[in-house]
Amino acid sequence: MYQDRDLWPFKCPECGEEFAKEIGWLKSQRPIIEIKCPGILNPVGPISCSRTLNYRATDFRLVLGQAKAGRYDPYEQTWTRKQRP
Ligand SMILES: [Zn+2]
Repeated sequence: MYQDRDLWPFKCPECGEEFAKEIGWLKSQRPIIEIKCPGILNPVGPISCSRTLNYRATDFRLVLGQAKAGRYDPYEQTWTRKQRP
């Protein structure tokens, strides 16, 4: 769990969309991790969202370390609608 090929969950505070990014990609972003919200994908068509999520790379490393140690579950903290993959 939580290796470079695994996914880390995010939830957009603007539109509420829940999505995930590869941990290896997140680790390569610094000093700020910028993630553009993919928008909401529904059967009628995508609803675009202009929100960009920002995280400090050092903060991400910290929670990633806690997750690896079993002290933090990002899916439980982040996603309400989706199941972990
Ligand atoms: Zn959004």
